[in-house]
Amino acid sequence: MSTLAGISDWQTEFKRSKVPFSISSDAFLSKCHTLICNDQRISLELGIQLFNHNNLSGIFALANLIKNSRYGNYVYFNENLHVNTTNICVLACRFCAFRKGPRHSEAYSLNVKEYLEQIKPFANRIDEVHSVGGLHPEWTIEHYEELYRESKKSFPNIMIKSLTAVEIKHIANRSELSIEDTLIRLSDAGLDSLPGGGAEILVDSVRNRICHGKESSDEYLNIHKIAHNLDISTNCTMLFGTVETLEERAIHLDKLRMLQDETNGFQCFVPYPFLPDKSRLPEAQLASLNEILRVIAISRIMLDNIPHIKAYRMNLGSKVASLALLAGADDIDGTVNHEEIMHEAGSMARLDTDSDELSRLIESVDSIPIKRNTLYTEFSRYQRKLNDHSRRLPISHQP
Ligand code: SF4
Repeated sequence: MSTLAGISDWQTEFKRSKVPFSISSDAFLSKCHTLICNDQRISLELGIQLFNHNNLSGIFALANLIKNSRYGNYVYFNENLHVNTTNICVLACRFCAFRKGPRHSEAYSLNVKEYLEQIKPFANRIDEVHSVGGLHPEWTIEHYEELYRESKKSFPNIMIKSLTAVEIKHIANRSELSIEDTLIRLSDAGLDSLPGGGAEILVDSVRNRICHGKESSDEYLNIHKIAHNLDISTNCTMLFGTVETLEERAIHLDKLRMLQDETNGFQCFVPYPFLPDKSRLPEAQLASLNEILRVIAISRIMLDNIPHIKAYRMNLGSKVASLALLAGADDIDGTVNHEEIMHEAGSMARLDTDSDELSRLIESVDSIPIKRNTLYTEFSRYQRKLNDHSRRLPISHQP
């Protein structure tokens, strides 16, 4: 049955969908297709093969077939705002262009009033604040409790998606609390969900090279597991194109789906490539456009138990993000309005994209924009308010 939330029995839909020639003419992809038809998982070994397989259009077709079986031509987005709490951080991850030392001239820490003031101008057109920041050397849990309580008091309709796993670990350590007690207190104060940032690659030898001192792979997964067990939904992410191998990308996906088998608490997977400059991680093996889309597609194929795959526009830019919607992604983030982490790293993604423009972007790949809430529990078909005066050649409108 199909609803705005998608198709409840997507496997049946998948089995009866016509198999594109780019799959049926390829022995390896046909094998993957048959496995999925038989309700079997694409194993880690097959996932590694997918990362090395040269039939890219066939991989996109398989991912897109799964996406269409789950959601038809719906693409989800939300109306949100990013607010970063502080750029001061006690760590110095090698890929990070955002963090500053406490004495840096551009270092900042928002107090509660300043935080609320950042939300206020957008409050009547968003329903989510996405809020992460550095590991502040002085803040303890009381600061975040006050932040969330006051936000809920001022903006009761706005959901708070906030804190990466390492921020939670840092707050717990600074406040001498367990991870569980930290999450319970933050949730009681108004935290609704976790955005999932900081997963990077869940292989410790990679983490030691790019983000030494951050939480280990097991700690990242365990913090999310504790959140899921407390009924706090989370997203999960992957930063690729640094020093990892193709095999390690597949291992990362495998670890996420194993936790999801246990907890079913991940809503959405958000993969994004490292954005380089001349100073950070000069040895990074940067992801090409093909690789970016391949990661999106293989995520869709391997992550059979994580419902949504996001095209993260703030990192990819609108044009690549729209291509990702043809390679298995079903969700695009968001109106955003303000963003620092990716823009400090060199992103040129526009920040003034409103819902009308976002829906136009979704329609440009022959999809239907569906507005969702943070927790993917409320959906509505988005109707553009303005007439579309932009001109396109007829091919843009072909089904
Ligand atoms: S990625 Fe996060 S933890 Fe690492 S240096 Fe940047 S702000 Fe700090």
